[in-house]
Amino acid sequence: QAVVRFEDVHFSYIPERPILKGVSFEVPAGHTVAIVGPSGAGKSTISRLLFRFYEPTSGRILIDGQNIADIQQTSLRKVIGMVPQDTVLFNDTIGYNIQYGRWDASPEEVREAARLAQIDRFISNLPEGYDTPVGERGLKLSGGEKQRVAIARTILKGPPILVLDEATSALDTFTEKEIQDALDRVSRGRTTLVIAHRLSTVIGADEIIVLDHGRVVERGNHTSLLALG
Ligand code: ADP
Ligand code: ADP
Repeated sequence: QAVVRFEDVHFSYIPERPILKGVSFEVPAGHTVAIVGPSGAGKSTISRLLFRFYEPTSGRILIDGQNIADIQQTSLRKVIGMVPQDTVLFNDTIGYNIQYGRWDASPEEVREAARLAQIDRFISNLPEGYDTPVGERGLKLSGGEKQRVAIARTILKGPPILVLDEATSALDTFTEKEIQDALDRVSRGRTTLVIAHRLSTVIGADEIIVLDHGRVVERGNHTSLLALG
């Protein structure tokens, strides 16, 4: 299990426009930290920096004490499982889509990953589109369901760190309780960073960090943050 640490991270996409203004936090091994905040606060930028799509202007990002600037992106990809907001599915069964990249996995392992992500009832269905007619096995997945396929694919790969950019559309078809349950199951015992769009879906996170205009403005658990109003 790995520890993720941001130390006074500053970042701007364009020189005269700072996006992160000294962000520090830690995700202890096996814990779940959620980042919430208004749109444009810099939440997704944090996950992009962690994946080394961009480099911080100053400050450090450490995994188990090692600066990620010294870790090759290919190695980083094995350590961090990134679940993006939008997922493009292949024109094959949901099970195939989950197994993609883990061809040595047994059907039981695939099913277990699907079960954890709560997408197992669709495992032999085909996503709608491409040359797949909407028929008996054709299925139109919502944004939240597609993200569950991506979650299952990521947990089947078994990375020690999970970064989940929670899809806003997840709320279209799932209740907040269902989303909480799924997050809870996939994050258990794994170092997890959740980019959350709603405080209500990250009730059980060990720590919630509120980001606003590139600064951490509050931190605490769900109860203490609600008490702040
Ligand atoms: P959040 O995830 O909190 O909604 P983001 O991290 O996506 O916020 O974006 C933070 C700010 O950075 C926004 O003002 C956004 O417009 C800006 N931004 C995001 N990506 C880029 C980019 N590639 N180039 C310039 N500005 C960007
Ligand atoms: P640990 O099990 O080591 O204490 P976790 O962060 O995995 O660490 O789990 C702590 C509790 O928080 C879990 O029992 C789970 O119910 C809840 N939890 C974890 N992550 C989330 C999340 N993203 N959303 C909602 N609840 C979560």
